[in-house]
Amino acid sequence: MTWAEAVNHFQRRNLEPLAREARGVAEKKFGAAVYLRGLIEFTNFCVMNCLYCGLRKSNGTVARYRLGSDVILKTVEYGFRQGLRTFVLQGGEDPWFTTDRLARLCARIKERTNGEAALTLSCGIRPLEDYRILKAAGADRYLMRFETSNPKLHRYLRDGLNLTDRLQALENLRTAGFQVGSGFMVGLPGETDDTVIANAELCARLGVDMAGVGPFIPNPDTPLAKAAQEPLEKSLFATALVRIACPETHIPATTAAGSLASDGREQTLKCGANVLMPNLTPTENKKDYLLYPGKICLNESGIQSIEDLSLRVKSVDKVISYDRADGRVLGRTEQTLWPDISASTGIKEHP
Ligand code: SAM
Ligand code: SF4
Repeated sequence: MTWAEAVNHFQRRNLEPLAREARGVAEKKFGAAVYLRGLIEFTNFCVMNCLYCGLRKSNGTVARYRLGSDVILKTVEYGFRQGLRTFVLQGGEDPWFTTDRLARLCARIKERTNGEAALTLSCGIRPLEDYRILKAAGADRYLMRFETSNPKLHRYLRDGLNLTDRLQALENLRTAGFQVGSGFMVGLPGETDDTVIANAELCARLGVDMAGVGPFIPNPDTPLAKAAQEPLEKSLFATALVRIACPETHIPATTAAGSLASDGREQTLKCGANVLMPNLTPTENKKDYLLYPGKICLNESGIQSIEDLSLRVKSVDKVISYDRADGRVLGRTEQTLWPDISASTGIKEHP
């Protein structure tokens, strides 16, 4: 299927042919495998004020927490014993976790997992030099969604921050040697079909190793409380488009999709996703990492979360894989650096 045909199916709302094509592309690359990444939500402090997010600084209803290094290390060891070989440390932009502190933590995680586990960080924008320090300490991958490829919408939703700065940070991550994940939310207020198409195209242009594509779920404790909830189907279309645009990229079936519909992750796997992220965050903290309402698995332990996902994967004729599944294992050649973000993405800020 050509890109133009894929876009046409999306615009005409023909999900079935698009999903079939996306499934085929994913199967060609990954077979029936669904890779697991153990998620640890290590801090819900955040100095940022993204309009969509429950962790935003101005949300006074959040009980803030930070996991201690001992808890994080124990959680990683537990996941490692269960067979997981990729861990994702995700959190708000929390200055308490200075780059040096985070680097020490990364080094200890690598040590405790005998250097066998891949370590992914997802904690926002830091300077290039800091990314280099984190990479040298043992972190392998970094996730940072661009959220939307529309510069005006991006600036509005991220409380004045420019899309070009986010893209520059993604470029810095690549320069520092990280496998880079990005992606976007689907159904943001002000988004059009063209935005979704441009989002998928941007994932392809950036050559991301991972692309997170999930529904936006309005949070009542944020300025977007009254925004409309778009149906899950929109995210399914977006996932299929990204799979077709980025045949080699790892795409998770997100918790947000599972929160919108009980079989939301299975439906997303059927549209080309190939990753699931069991949530290993200690049960007593999970309820305080509420980006949006209705988040699933809040009362499950890590092992229950893995068992639940295994059943879901079987139900769509796929199999769990504990492989680290690095970007480079997929046979990627050297990723070229993005010489000039505005030239390579066509994105320009408008005053
Ligand atoms: N602070 C880091 C950052 O912003 O990149 C990482 C943590 S942030 C909570 C992870 C992701 O949550 C964001 O990239 C965003 O796409 C998603 N998110 C935030 N609020 C959401 C909402 N209301 N609905 C769905 N996803 C949301
Ligand atoms: Fe903070 Fe990330 Fe939420 Fe923005 S999306 S408020 S940076 S945790």
